[in-house]
Amino acid sequence: MQISTLVRKNIQQLAPYSSARHEFVGSAEVYLDANENPYDTGFNRYPDPLQKAVKKKLSAIKKVAPENIFLGNGSDEAIDLLIRIFCEPRIDHILTLPPTYGMYKVSASIADVKVKPILLTPDYQPNVEEILTTANEHSKLLFLCTPNNPTGNRFERVKVLELLEKFKGIVVLDEAYIDFSAEESYNQLLAKHPNLVVMQTFSKAWGMAAIRLGIAYASEEIIHYFNKVKPPYNVNILTQQAALKSLENHEQQQAWVAEILEERAQLMNVLADFSFIQKVYPSDANFLLMKVENPNELYQYLVEKGIIVRNRSTVPLCEGGLRITVGTKTENEKLIEAMKSYLSQQFPM
Ligand SMILES: *Cc1c(COP(=O)(O)O)cnc(C)c1O
Repeated sequence: MQISTLVRKNIQQLAPYSSARHEFVGSAEVYLDANENPYDTGFNRYPDPLQKAVKKKLSAIKKVAPENIFLGNGSDEAIDLLIRIFCEPRIDHILTLPPTYGMYKVSASIADVKVKPILLTPDYQPNVEEILTTANEHSKLLFLCTPNNPTGNRFERVKVLELLEKFKGIVVLDEAYIDFSAEESYNQLLAKHPNLVVMQTFSKAWGMAAIRLGIAYASEEIIHYFNKVKPPYNVNILTQQAALKSLENHEQQQAWVAEILEERAQLMNVLADFSFIQKVYPSDANFLLMKVENPNELYQYLVEKGIIVRNRSTVPLCEGGLRITVGTKTENEKLIEAMKSYLSQQFPM
């Protein structure tokens, strides 16, 4: 597959901004090239535009070469850049599989790029046949979120692999929740699939949502386009420093994940026993989607108890759906207490 033929002409022809830190790489005694303030505040110098130290550490953990990594201001930046690299406004479109993450559609709409939604099947799997028959030469990006938000399940590997083989545009796999899944990351398949982009984030398992750091893994060619289009210093130094610390403390991340998985199983068991909960969906993520009879009433009841969950009941295929993030043991116990009191209020003895 020729990736360059999928890229917008103006992006292929773009002469990117070349920053001072980009033109001179290395170390020197005197920096008079970037119009910075020479007095040391700890932050007076521009940060590394390619975040090499962070990529090196991440590369060792994720087993993906630094050349195949892009870092951005949250996954949101990667989504936005992908749309701007590949989709010609009003001509090209993206494919999404609702119910799914809302940012794909928002980013596309901002860029004046159409979205063709193809509903998941009732068991929340991609409808491979419909995706492939809907796709045409203007279908530049296919967004697959696995494990999926808000349903929590992962997509069957054979289905994802078939789409990777047969879809003629870029397949973007959003793996924001991969650390909570039994499934392996698809980031080991980059060499085999030049049209694959895998996104991950520091916002979930790493516990670093506030620093805004998103990851995209892709072929060197696609990474080249990311770097061409991104703002020169898109990841600030505070974020880079915090990310390095977090990566150095990988054991902590693994311990949190183990704890959350245990709590998820526990919560799943307890919730499934409440009579007013019709279903708790299996989860490969750090949240549970459940189906209840009166989602708005339960949502409001929990708010009054000081507990906020996500009401997804108006989302297609999620009728009655509330999405609950797995919290700490104490938080989950509070949730369960509130559920019990909701039950007793609903059916007083
Ligand atoms: C939370 C989440 C993200 C993370 O986005 P950031 O911008 O990196 O915080 C990405 N994709 C999905 C599906 C998510 O649920």
